[in-house]
Amino acid sequence: MSVDKKLDNKVITPVAREVDQDRAERAIRELLEAIGEDPSRDGLLDTPARVARMWTEVLSGTNNDPDHHLSKTFDIEHDEMVLVRDIPFDSMCEHHMLPFFGKAHVAYIPNGHITRLSKIARVVDAYARRLQVQERLTDEIKDCIQGTLNPKGVAVVIEAQHLCMQMRGVQKQHSSTTTSAFSGLFMSDEKTRAEFMNLMK
Ligand code: ZN
Repeated sequence: MSVDKKLDNKVITPVAREVDQDRAERAIRELLEAIGEDPSRDGLLDTPARVARMWTEVLSGTNNDPDHHLSKTFDIEHDEMVLVRDIPFDSMCEHHMLPFFGKAHVAYIPNGHITRLSKIARVVDAYARRLQVQERLTDEIKDCIQGTLNPKGVAVVIEAQHLCMQMRGVQKQHSSTTTSAFSGLFMSDEKTRAEFMNLMK
């Protein structure tokens, strides 16, 4: 797997924390033994290495600076709400180390400048691809956009399914969890929030 990410004309290589492949492999082998498996049987021979590699991909957002995606903005007069719906994401629940996944909806009201719509999706991805909880993911996306674009307000709604709940029978199959976070006008102005809720229908 390549960890190089092409952004505009630059190639950004995530640095900092790398998954220690050898150590992760040893841990997976140990886990297989702990659950009564034989790591040397045919089907499991490559599993520790495969799982260790997978974690690098699953956690690729950890080394990905989300602010960076919003560093390039465009000046514009437009001050109407911008809404990006149905941004798909995959994340990993930090309580059970099992996937949760779904869609994020992000809205903001520009304050003189906007970003490319695709950059919003990159911010979602950067925060999703790390050990997470849905509530924090929602807040972090909101804070990142508020902190970098400085808009008049940000609204983030996330709908997700959690395997840790579905597999363990805590929750009915396919039911989803919704979280939301608001700032600025979305918090203080009834009309703005109503407009957003209306667009979300
Ligand atoms: Zn969980």
